[in-house]
Amino acid sequence: MDSKAPLTPLNIARRAVKDTDVKIDILYCGISHSDIHTVHNDWGGTKYPSVPGHEIIGRVMETGSGVSKFKVGDLVGVGCLVDSCRTCDSCKDNLEQYCENGAVGTYNGKDKDLGGHTFGGYSETIVVEEAFVLRIPENIDIKATAPLLCAGITTWSPLRHWNIKKGDKVGVIGLGGLGHMGVKFANALGAHVVMITTSESKSADAKKLGAHEVLISKDTAAMKQYSRSFDFLLNTVPVKHDLNPYIRLLKRDTTMCLVGAIEPLEDMHGGLLITGRKNIAGSLIGGIKETQEMLDFCGEHNIVCDIETINIQDVNKAYERVMNADIKYRFVIDMKSLKES
Ligand SMILES: [Zn+2]
Ligand SMILES: [Zn+2]
Repeated sequence: MDSKAPLTPLNIARRAVKDTDVKIDILYCGISHSDIHTVHNDWGGTKYPSVPGHEIIGRVMETGSGVSKFKVGDLVGVGCLVDSCRTCDSCKDNLEQYCENGAVGTYNGKDKDLGGHTFGGYSETIVVEEAFVLRIPENIDIKATAPLLCAGITTWSPLRHWNIKKGDKVGVIGLGGLGHMGVKFANALGAHVVMITTSESKSADAKKLGAHEVLISKDTAAMKQYSRSFDFLLNTVPVKHDLNPYIRLLKRDTTMCLVGAIEPLEDMHGGLLITGRKNIAGSLIGGIKETQEMLDFCGEHNIVCDIETINIQDVNKAYERVMNADIKYRFVIDMKSLKES
């Protein structure tokens, strides 16, 4: 197995359940862009064989003797992290994603129990410490909650960190897996939401998701009209691009937060930041506490992701479609198809 090979079935071991562990029968797993980047070794450092998947939904099938938060049968989720040091400043601040000693990824992380690397959610079961297991609301469409654990929290965390509230004008740049959740959350938080996209064809969909207006970024006249009008920009564009036209949209003292592009960007003009004391920031998923808050909010406001369900046998085809941006907006694998195969 290497970066060129398609995904194929594989037998893997899960550790025996320890005192504070929860063993989960996996029902659904979303397909994140990171899965594909990892399988293809786009970021380097992929360990093979690779079992991706960090948008995991399932039911508790076994608990360790010291587990207090969960019981057998509970509907639970596991996102991008399964462990962290728990003693550094970031961990103490409930920001495990920024663990200074390196949080453990749900896949391709260092497996301290079995050695080697961690295996993710394209799998029948997983064993995770309860501190990294999330409670999933039962009242919303279960399979459509899976992408909340990556795409959801990635957009929720910056909206909360920058305190987006009723009346704020928020621009969401890019309409994909991340962008569609950014629009839903910003709308639910009471903001006036503007979808900023290159393609006119996405207007109707953006409005259905909760955008109040659509701004076509290729339309220079429209971009000029919106200059210095936004309180916050959530930039979900996943590839190298030019930030300068977007910086012009920010009001004085406001921020554009990047959550998509984990790669070099085009040159940025310092003058655009200096004139108006503007900020460019970044944000990575969210901590466990904040992820639970997001899930609870989704339960209360009936927010889920827009998904297409597939069988595991179609995962390679789904990867092709994700790479061609041919999905509204996230694939979720029904793990029944793996168990019955
Ligand atoms: Zn992801
Ligand atoms: Zn830490």
